[in-house]
Amino acid sequence: MDEHEARRRDEADPGHREMFHVPPADGGNYPEAAYLAGNSLGLAPRATRDELLADLDAWAQRGVEGHVTGERPWLPYHELLTAPAARLVGAEPAETVVMNSLTVNLHLLMVSFYRPTGARYRIVIEDHAFPSDSYAVRSQTRFHGYDPDEALVRLRPRAGEDTLRTADVVDYLAKEGERVALVLFGGVNYLTGELLDVPAITAAGHAAGAVVGWDMAHAAGNVPLRLHDWDVDFAAWCSYKYLNAGPGALAGAFIHQRHLADDRLPRLEGWWSTEPATRFEMAPVSRPPASADAWQISNPPIFSMGPVRTSLEVFDTVGMAALRERSLRLTGYLEQLLDDIGATVVTPREPERRGCQLSLRVSNAAKLSHRLRTEHSVIADAREPDILRLAPVPLYNSYHDCWRAAAALADLGW
Ligand SMILES: *Cc1c(COP(=O)(O)O)cnc(C)c1O
Repeated sequence: MDEHEARRRDEADPGHREMFHVPPADGGNYPEAAYLAGNSLGLAPRATRDELLADLDAWAQRGVEGHVTGERPWLPYHELLTAPAARLVGAEPAETVVMNSLTVNLHLLMVSFYRPTGARYRIVIEDHAFPSDSYAVRSQTRFHGYDPDEALVRLRPRAGEDTLRTADVVDYLAKEGERVALVLFGGVNYLTGELLDVPAITAAGHAAGAVVGWDMAHAAGNVPLRLHDWDVDFAAWCSYKYLNAGPGALAGAFIHQRHLADDRLPRLEGWWSTEPATRFEMAPVSRPPASADAWQISNPPIFSMGPVRTSLEVFDTVGMAALRERSLRLTGYLEQLLDDIGATVVTPREPERRGCQLSLRVSNAAKLSHRLRTEHSVIADAREPDILRLAPVPLYNSYHDCWRAAAALADLGW
């Protein structure tokens, strides 16, 4: 393992680290942390602070007039986020809205798209679904009067395997699909880093007569998405992982165009669900637009929208295609270093079946991640009991960060 080789690669393929604040190292040989936890919380873009302060100043200087005056009036503020969010996930602007948080959006979308009837009431998720998604779908089945243990189907990898095979999911849907109301998977699994075949599973769900939604928390900003072309019914994602919009940042939602004008869809509404031109007529009955905006409920938190706007601009500036190219090189390099030290990678080895994250099987994940942080300023994260996640993010991570992670693991053992 050659540190100079890592430095040489950084010179040839530098990324955009200068756009971000990288946390300082806590002791050790290098000034900055090797931050490989962007899959959990992305780093702060340098531009965010000034942009946020400008929004605060508008409030100080304009009071209620800020709703309609200034550089970024608040009433239509959320519209500034729509087109860049749509570009990021491969959607039409009308299909996209930034609002709420991720699990809240999943619930609001399931109000519209989990419509159990007769024998078709099951929800299919992956066994290693993120807990919040598990709790959300369980509570949805209960809300509709079902026993979650019966109504929920968790598809697991084959014995001895770590990740799901698309063919097994497709097979399940072909055999059992007539009982399935909703398929809801994570596009990239948070634990294993597996990128599922979104178009294939979506098509299989549709062929079985089910609705297909996707949680893109670990996919948005990590891998190129084409939600519209893939015919996904709905999707949601958060903005604090690969999108770098800050802890608890506002989330995104996608509703496919073919559902937008369907006025039979149930939906929870508030005054932000009605079309803006007549909103302040204060009419007692809403007039929802034929767009994802109709799923909004409340007037949005402006100071939370600024960081999403700023972070989406970064993606527009750099471009998801270029990011994916660098991501493939960076993650491939980390994979090679991990192979060199004999670590056990559970993430799929085929680059097209993963994003940037590599998950390792280790013996004591929590202790190892603690020692990586305190002894080497390498920030990784542990998922109990035995998974260590390393995510070299193509926007700001360096080859040298990857080298430091592998060198630290070689030093500590696992
Ligand atoms: C990060 C993550 C969440 C977190 O949910 P919040 O509503 O943002 O707290 C949920 N689901 C998945 C798949 C995630 O990766």
